[in-house]
Amino acid sequence: MSETKQTVTTPYSNMLAPLDLGFTTLKNRVLMGSMHVGLEEEKGGFEKLAAFYAARAKGGVGLIVTGGISPNIAGWVAPFAGRMSSLRHAKKHKVITQAVHAEGGKICMQILHSGRYGYHPLNVSASAVKSPITPFKPKSLSTRGVYNTIKDYAQCAAYAQSAGYDGVEIMGSEGYLINQFFCERTNFRDDEFGGSLENRARLAIETVKQTRAEVGANFIIIYRLSMLDLVEGGAPWEEVVYLAKAIEAAGATLINTGIGWHEARVPTIATSVPRAAFTWITQRMKEQVSLPLITTNRINTPEVAEDVLAKGHADMVSMARPFLADPDFVAKAMRNESDQINTCIACNQACLDHAFEQKRASCLVNPQACYETELIFKTVGQAKKLAVVGAGPAGLAFATYAAQRGHEVHIYDQASEIGGQFNYAKQVPGKEEFYETLRYYARMIDVHGVHLHLNTRVDAQVLANEGFAEVVMATGIKPRTLTIPGHNHPKVLSYLDVLRDHQPVGQKVAVIGAGGIGFDVSEYLVETQSLTTDLDKWLVHWGIDKAFSAPGALMPKTAPQPVATQPQAATASPVNREVYLLQRKTTKVGKGLGKTTGWIHRTSLANHNVKMLNGVSYEKVDDAGLHIMVGDEYKVLDVDNIIVCAGQESLRELEQPLAQLDIPVHIIGGAYEAGELDAKRAIRQGAELAAKI
Ligand code: FAD
Ligand code: NAP
Ligand code: SF4
Repeated sequence: MSETKQTVTTPYSNMLAPLDLGFTTLKNRVLMGSMHVGLEEEKGGFEKLAAFYAARAKGGVGLIVTGGISPNIAGWVAPFAGRMSSLRHAKKHKVITQAVHAEGGKICMQILHSGRYGYHPLNVSASAVKSPITPFKPKSLSTRGVYNTIKDYAQCAAYAQSAGYDGVEIMGSEGYLINQFFCERTNFRDDEFGGSLENRARLAIETVKQTRAEVGANFIIIYRLSMLDLVEGGAPWEEVVYLAKAIEAAGATLINTGIGWHEARVPTIATSVPRAAFTWITQRMKEQVSLPLITTNRINTPEVAEDVLAKGHADMVSMARPFLADPDFVAKAMRNESDQINTCIACNQACLDHAFEQKRASCLVNPQACYETELIFKTVGQAKKLAVVGAGPAGLAFATYAAQRGHEVHIYDQASEIGGQFNYAKQVPGKEEFYETLRYYARMIDVHGVHLHLNTRVDAQVLANEGFAEVVMATGIKPRTLTIPGHNHPKVLSYLDVLRDHQPVGQKVAVIGAGGIGFDVSEYLVETQSLTTDLDKWLVHWGIDKAFSAPGALMPKTAPQPVATQPQAATASPVNREVYLLQRKTTKVGKGLGKTTGWIHRTSLANHNVKMLNGVSYEKVDDAGLHIMVGDEYKVLDVDNIIVCAGQESLRELEQPLAQLDIPVHIIGGAYEAGELDAKRAIRQGAELAAKI
């Protein structure tokens, strides 16, 4: 097997070089990583999946890996989840493989047995030990059951081959079944699949061997190897290397990198994780094996991908969510238009959070993802002259999609820059990726010829005079203010005073409201520096041991470490700032945050000793501070400032005047409904209106 690198005249010559696998050649070094998107189980979902994957193949990605498909019922992720254990199942997949091949792409099916992570009562594992993140205690597989499971994997691969797939990926990481057998954390068996390293590795090795025997030489087998388990009782480095070598000998074509079990208490893909945070471990493995290695996690731009490959950390990069955000990622890089890529900001809000809620996945920044056959932007026959008031996420999405369709679009904002509230989000330490969305929209404004009018507060008469056919009101929200006695006290600030106007904040602070913004403001107040650009500090902060001296690569103390403190300034400093984060509800503070990221925010603030109180009622503000009741107890929080993050109200001042002038108005985003508003909803509303106007 030889690897050919070709010189390509773009800045991404490593990323765009073909990869020769001997019996087949991948057109570049970019793999679209496996994502279960929820269409797998939806009625009519396979046609939608075909369109979803075909769009990515058309966009030039070298190899696609599907979401996980179980080889048998016990391996289901959830009841009736995708499974391939018959020719009938395989036949349904043909529409996917044909659509991808028609676009010149290649696609592998991931075979995923979820083991004890299976969210159903039929789940099985190496031993009968429940996982901390699922309610169902697994049954321990009998020895015969393990041999049957290996056969099921191999048979599943053969069915995938008959369905037209170019290969399979055997999922051996993230804490799923094969990982559960391999690690002492979850394997307490005393048969030939437990105890010694050789025995614990047997399931993985036999699965690859039998799969190769079943599918022949000319079929891709990727093995996803857990290189960093990031849990106690995970594999030590020597064992990971042993398995990698054995997997190579067993006939795998490529090894992909797996980082962290799902139950690990270390963030691995959230937005606060530095870009390419884990490629060093793939680089270390490159010294041990000779088959091509794929690296992964938080690679989201061609520049980062190119850098990782140029440094020799891997032979290929895997990106999953970036292909939800932009199907044309590779094609744009090939055209040297990386500034036109809609970048994944790693928020998880529309992808992973949806997957965990058993909803169809999509993407916050690209609402068309997984809706390729439903949300369509057709070129218009007759262009209209349209005004958009407000260049926040809702207005920007509408304006750029409507202009893409051919309408003449004018967008107005009273501010000096586009972005609305995203301009405050991007300042929060660990949320720097939010800049990328604004960079993308700025570029789309140019590309689609949207007329941008900044520093322009418009009224209804101006819009009427300009002769707009229709007006889109995307004026957003205003922060809710307090009504308690003392709400006008100089100690009281709104989150806009802090994040937009950068008013000074004292050393002792009470934050009223523990929604997303209350958490972000607290983070802003206590974090001395963002760690997203300082990988080594970030690894130490989360207890990851780059030296891999203990199993699982965790430092002995797994709790996150505070960032090294800077010398205390005379003025208010985030270091040791005393912050109270308050809510009226009696539920756990932060319960409403994102399903897959809320724990990171809670851990981060707890680590900074932010005091989170629930069941609070607010009495008054005076020179002494904030007076509250917590249950029956009266307390005065002796604070310098009270920052109000108590939700928002719609800003729709233009609605009545426009109606009086008989101008058709559409209202989107926060202006339409402030309750539970987020950028995901704002952008989708803008896109949906643009598709039909
Ligand atoms: P806005 O963003 O409020 O934009 C409205 C725009 O209209 C503004 O630019 C305003 O200047 C302009 N405008 C208003 N009236 C006029 C007028 N008369 N003339 C001209 N211009 C006018 N959401 C998430 O999904 N995920 C997050 O992680 C997240 N983090 C956040 C963190 C912070 C600190 C904040 C403040 C918000 C965060 N949000 C987040 C919320 C998200 O930013 C909002 O839901 C989103 O911006 C709402 O979009 P919008 O377009 O409806 O309104
Ligand atoms: P929010 O999530 O609705 O939170 C508002 C908070 O204010 C709640 O904790 C509420 O809790 C409290 N509150 C409501 N009315 C109040 C009143 N009259 N007096 C005192 N407290 C009151 O809204 P947000 O924090 O403003 O966020 C806005 C949107 O941005 C949200 O939809 C959020 O999803 C999104 N966002 C998301 C993220 C993210 O990381 N995903 C980050 C930031 C923002 P009690 O009623 O219990 O007091
Ligand atoms: Fe990335 Fe957020 Fe889109 Fe998921 S929803 S793909 S994390 S931008």
